[in-house]
Amino acid sequence: MNWLTNFVKPKLRAIVGRKDVPENLWTKCSGCGAMLFHRDLAENLGVCNQCNQHHKISPKERFSSLFDNGDYEIIESPTVISDPIKFRDTKKYTDRLKESRNKTGTQESISLAYGKINYIDTVIAAQNFAFMGGSLGMGTGESIIEAADYCLKNNCVLIIIAAAGGARMQEGILSLMQLPRTIIAIDSLKQKKIPFISILTDPTTGGVTASYAMLGDISIAEPGALIGFAGPRVIESTIKEKLPANFQQSENLLENGMLDMVVDRRNLKKILDKLIVLLTKNNKIFDK
Ligand SMILES: [Zn+2]
Repeated sequence: MNWLTNFVKPKLRAIVGRKDVPENLWTKCSGCGAMLFHRDLAENLGVCNQCNQHHKISPKERFSSLFDNGDYEIIESPTVISDPIKFRDTKKYTDRLKESRNKTGTQESISLAYGKINYIDTVIAAQNFAFMGGSLGMGTGESIIEAADYCLKNNCVLIIIAAAGGARMQEGILSLMQLPRTIIAIDSLKQKKIPFISILTDPTTGGVTASYAMLGDISIAEPGALIGFAGPRVIESTIKEKLPANFQQSENLLENGMLDMVVDRRNLKKILDKLIVLLTKNNKIFDK
């Protein structure tokens, strides 16, 4: 019998009292190492006020910061069959899905919402890196198609905020099939001249870069975001050459003409307000 843990420790704890401070009040900035108070970081939209590092934020935080007055309605994502190829690595795919669903409170790695941006009807599809690295599987593909259909039926501008490591390997070829499917969905918007704005955040790589993320009428990236197809490590080991320090970072892509702008997250709403008006001007379906 361990009388120290069973008897002495509870007595001591009762005397000293437990500190009533949650451990997760602070976040260490991944850019500069500064300790950031959670509430300050949230108020600053996940941007470090010391070094400007853009931390990953959730779709809900995106929606409330971009839609007018933070008002929006969630559009339900279509349901798809889980685990189509009965995949298992160190864990079952169904268990990984369950974990991510519990962690994020959403069914998939993408969330859809309808609202207004500068009074113009808009749908935002936002990927969540916290859900299996934002990976593009059947559920994500279906959601993007749903978002494009919604825009076609209801005359809304489409914005996709990408945050993904690429296609979801646990769904094999079925995840790769989402590349052409989402490209066709985006293409269908062009027939009605519905604008599509792509916002690339850290990271946007693999199959997501190879499909809808690079098809925006306007492509915007957040500062310092890794954007590319294969990651720099893979390229470096293939070509056996040292790559420049900011290779595949948004600023470098902008210099090389792959993006239209790099925008600080705190200015994104202001920029979108202007862009959406410009893009819908002279388009009868957006006339009020
Ligand atoms: Zn920092």
